[in-house]
Amino acid sequence: MTEATIFDKIINREIPATVIYEDDDVLAFNDINPQAPIHFLVIPKVQIRTANDINNDNAELVGKLYVAAAKIADEMGFADNGFRCVMNCNPDGGQTVYHIHLHVLAGKALGWPPY
Ligand code: 5GP
Repeated sequence: MTEATIFDKIINREIPATVIYEDDDVLAFNDINPQAPIHFLVIPKVQIRTANDINNDNAELVGKLYVAAAKIADEMGFADNGFRCVMNCNPDGGQTVYHIHLHVLAGKALGWPPY
């Protein structure tokens, strides 16, 4: 049994979030602590704990996170200017919520490298 995270509460509408996209498989909502003018998270509705748990069985679902990100980027009008997708993994990657999520950052020219 995997431990529920704050994102399960967002999926179940037990706590509020600004949801910007939803379909049968994924949910996207604004990050509560934005690191760019546009910063939202795209998550699968079922829990996958970390990027280490991505495998051939869930690859299609993980791909849908990117499909949703591209669709939202198009609809919000920042696709051409560009954006960054980040998935942090475990402590050294900076992961704090153990339900995989694609950070989508946009709205300015972002610096690189991220340290
Ligand atoms: P991580 O550090 O795991 O890569 O990213 C977790 C992200 O979730 C952080 O950017 C953090 O601001 C965001 N976050 C944590 N708790 C909440 C919450 O309750 N609501 C929303 N909208 N975002 C959250």
